[in-house]
Amino acid sequence: QRTAQPGTPTGPTLPGYELVHAGKVRELYAPGPDAPLPGGFAADEVLLMVASDRISAYDHVLSTPIEDKGEVLTRMSLWWFDQLADLVPHHVLATEAPLVPEQVAGRAVLVKRLRMLPVECVARAHLTGGGLSEYRRAGTVSGVRLREGLVDGDELPDPIFTPSTKAPAGEHDEPISYEQVVTTIGEPLARAARNLTVAILRRGHEVAAGRGIIVADTKVEFGLEGVEAERDLRTVTQKELDAGSVRIVLADEVLTPDSSRFWPAEGFEAGRQQPSFDKQYVRDWLTSPASGWDKESDTPPPVLPADVAAATRGKYVEAYERLTGESFR
Ligand code: ATP
Ligand code: MG
Repeated sequence: QRTAQPGTPTGPTLPGYELVHAGKVRELYAPGPDAPLPGGFAADEVLLMVASDRISAYDHVLSTPIEDKGEVLTRMSLWWFDQLADLVPHHVLATEAPLVPEQVAGRAVLVKRLRMLPVECVARAHLTGGGLSEYRRAGTVSGVRLREGLVDGDELPDPIFTPSTKAPAGEHDEPISYEQVVTTIGEPLARAARNLTVAILRRGHEVAAGRGIIVADTKVEFGLEGVEAERDLRTVTQKELDAGSVRIVLADEVLTPDSSRFWPAEGFEAGRQQPSFDKQYVRDWLTSPASGWDKESDTPPPVLPADVAAATRGKYVEAYERLTGESFR
């Protein structure tokens, strides 16, 4: 279903850095031999994570960029890392030149290169999407039984951890049970990842709710410090986590509209599909007759009209400003 090719060899380049991964909207680079490094770190211990202005919808990367999106999401993530600092350490080492090259300043961060947990840690505060499908089929969400009669968008009595696989680029993440996470990374790490994921969503949901945004669900990624590259993660013990000789660190981006479902709190009503805070203009236009596009077809979506792109930029900026209380410019 995906048309854009992440990671084409002719893709993004950054002088002095080597592209190591290209996602739908972000790139990861390793510093080359002459790139500046933070004190105490070798080149293979850090990564530069760059957010582009690309936007995806209905599993396609659109050909029209959303101006400033990369910077908005980068700054939003940094703001959240701060808000969450009492719950979990994060991976960011530097946000400014010279450690972040001028060319990508504002939309890139230099991070600790971590041993990533091979699972996507998702938690849901509201019932929708994949969680709703399982509930309709089985009465459960990630194995947790819920009362009957819940409808699309309903708030859950407690956030639920609903992990999924980390599928290779172009494939879809598949939901897995908590037990499967335990099988993959062992009980101590699975428990820590689950508890942290739920705590992060709880905090995010609570903070955003006071500012007019419902964070319905979110995906976070964790990495580890203090674990050798070849070590079997199932051998990590609770004792090592307690003593801090192995540390679990919040990586990637956090509580952004790209990693979470953001809904406008105003006019929220369960029992229907919720409008997305940021992408609704894009989705509405793409599925309207005006676009002439059929989302079930194999054809790539058309170029966005300037007003749709501008309105979408406005929503990203609004989300940032509402959450942080700061003006974007
Ligand atoms: P998609 O476009 O579907 O999101 P993707 O997840 O491969 O695909 P990105 O999200 O752009 O693309 O990629 C970011 C990658 O960086 C993820 O694989 C994530 O696990 C990894 N990552 C994030 N933070 C760190 C870190 N501190 N150390 C090592 N890897 C990291
Ligand atoms: Mg990703």
